[in-house]
Amino acid sequence: MRRIVEGLHRFQTDVFPTKRDLFHKLAESQNPRALFVTCGDSRIVPDLIMQTSPGELFICRNAGNIVPPFGDVAGGVSATIEYAVVALEIPHIIVCGHSDCGAMKGILYPQSTAAMPMVAHWLRHAEAARYVVEDLHRDKSEEEKLEILTRENIRAQLTNLTTHPSVAARLARGTLQIYGWHYDISSGDVLTFDAERNEFVHLEPADRVPSATPRPRSDVG
Ligand SMILES: [Zn+2]
Repeated sequence: MRRIVEGLHRFQTDVFPTKRDLFHKLAESQNPRALFVTCGDSRIVPDLIMQTSPGELFICRNAGNIVPPFGDVAGGVSATIEYAVVALEIPHIIVCGHSDCGAMKGILYPQSTAAMPMVAHWLRHAEAARYVVEDLHRDKSEEEKLEILTRENIRAQLTNLTTHPSVAARLARGTLQIYGWHYDISSGDVLTFDAERNEFVHLEPADRVPSATPRPRSDVG
């Protein structure tokens, strides 16, 4: 704990003074660029990975970067999404999974969560991903299954995301973009789900950022 408190002190004495204007501006309001839904894993540090500053990312974290479907749980993730979309009018939502994810291992090896009933209950929101892996990839190695499951979970959570009315309405209108990312801890690489190509592709700086966004309604003017 001492390491943590010392870090806080260093922030207050060394870092805060250099960003005083930014923090004063942020004290009154926020206008984040994106909602970032990711795993609670300590190795995922969004502001470091994307080099963003305070105020730029609205972050929602949980075991397995899961988005429960609308109506299932009136929980923190659903409320956070609704607030981000309705109150903050955030134009982008990124669901980001990662390599070596403990939650994904828990799905792949259900016996590993036997002593953690809440974790097991929570991970049922990723059942669709598990079924896809069991059905299509039964013969793959354990390592490959984990990788595939992690990507299938990202796709499943993007699908769940679209069941939220606030998200569905903004997608239909074309004012919200959604993305599914896979972050590799050992390389720093990010793959993104490209709905047009129906596959994960490397994410590079480009004019067109591949997304998982469904087409808006054609009759929206
Ligand atoms: Zn994880």
